Amino acid sequence: MKRMQEVTEEDKKTKFRKYKKIIYLVAVVVISVIAAAFGFSDELPVFFSEIFPVYEQTDSAFEVHYIDVGQGDSSLIICDGQSMLIDAGENGHEIDVLNYLRTHGIEKLDYIIASHQHSDHIGGLSEVLDEIGTDNIIMPRLTKEQTPTNSTYTAFLKSVQNSGAKVIASKVGATYTLGSASFEILGPVTDDAEDINNMSVVVKMTYGENIFLFTGDAEKEEEREIIATGADLDCDVLKVGHHGSGTSSGVDFLDAVSPEICVIQVGADNDYGHPHENIVERLESYADEIYRTDLCGDIVITCDGNDLNVSYENQ
Ligand SMILES: [Zn+2]
Repeated sequence: MKRMQEVTEEDKKTKFRKYKKIIYLVAVVVISVIAAAFGFSDELPVFFSEIFPVYEQTDSAFEVHYIDVGQGDSSLIICDGQSMLIDAGENGHEIDVLNYLRTHGIEKLDYIIASHQHSDHIGGLSEVLDEIGTDNIIMPRLTKEQTPTNSTYTAFLKSVQNSGAKVIASKVGATYTLGSASFEILGPVTDDAEDINNMSVVVKMTYGENIFLFTGDAEKEEEREIIATGADLDCDVLKVGHHGSGTSSGVDFLDAVSPEICVIQVGADNDYGHPHENIVERLESYADEIYRTDLCGDIVITCDGNDLNVSYENQ
């Protein structure tokens, strides 16, 4: 018969072995989840991403993300913790934009700009307004004749109304701040363009010495009107108008804009033949680098106010 002291010691050892197994199992699970969350976030089920959101942040104070939404536009600008979204792609691509915003830790946008009323720009905005929301939304003021009556636009207006966001009609010369960056509205200049593309809100974003231009689907008509205002259009990075269509990026405009980098937001094998071959050749004669979302996927340009750094998804 064992003495009482011996039995207790034996029990302790057995219990410790059991705890060791449990601790080991818990450690394996925790390490696996952390490894999955930080190392393999793209493959994580939604369940895990929601519990362990992975914020893909850079060290830069200023970032522009040209989100790949196929044939459409969507750009996210982040500066000092403030954020602005210009467009959200076509209907059906809202999930791309929402996932992108969540992945980058955006809980609410400071600004949304709806460049113009075509569905490849505002199609995804309803869901973004419903799910993420914004404090301010800037969009062109339209006449009754210009106002679309389709379901996409109706849904967009309903979401704008429900969001409680301050609605701001775009006005040439109006300036706003986004963190320590500032942006100015350059267009639309007119209020009665026949083609809605030429009612696109055109934005010049300045951070330190770096300037980014966002042109929506502005065509040569709006480009000429903007030049005529005498605005300084010189920029580092141009979001090429109308997905590289032959109706945009006129020589006069590119002379004034003089971009170092061009970004074309365009879908692979789209029905419109965007970007137009001649326009790509023309852009090459101005810019050192051209990036396309159909080839690169998501494109991110960061800057420190002087130097630009470009990275993209399909390296
Ligand atoms: Zn478009």
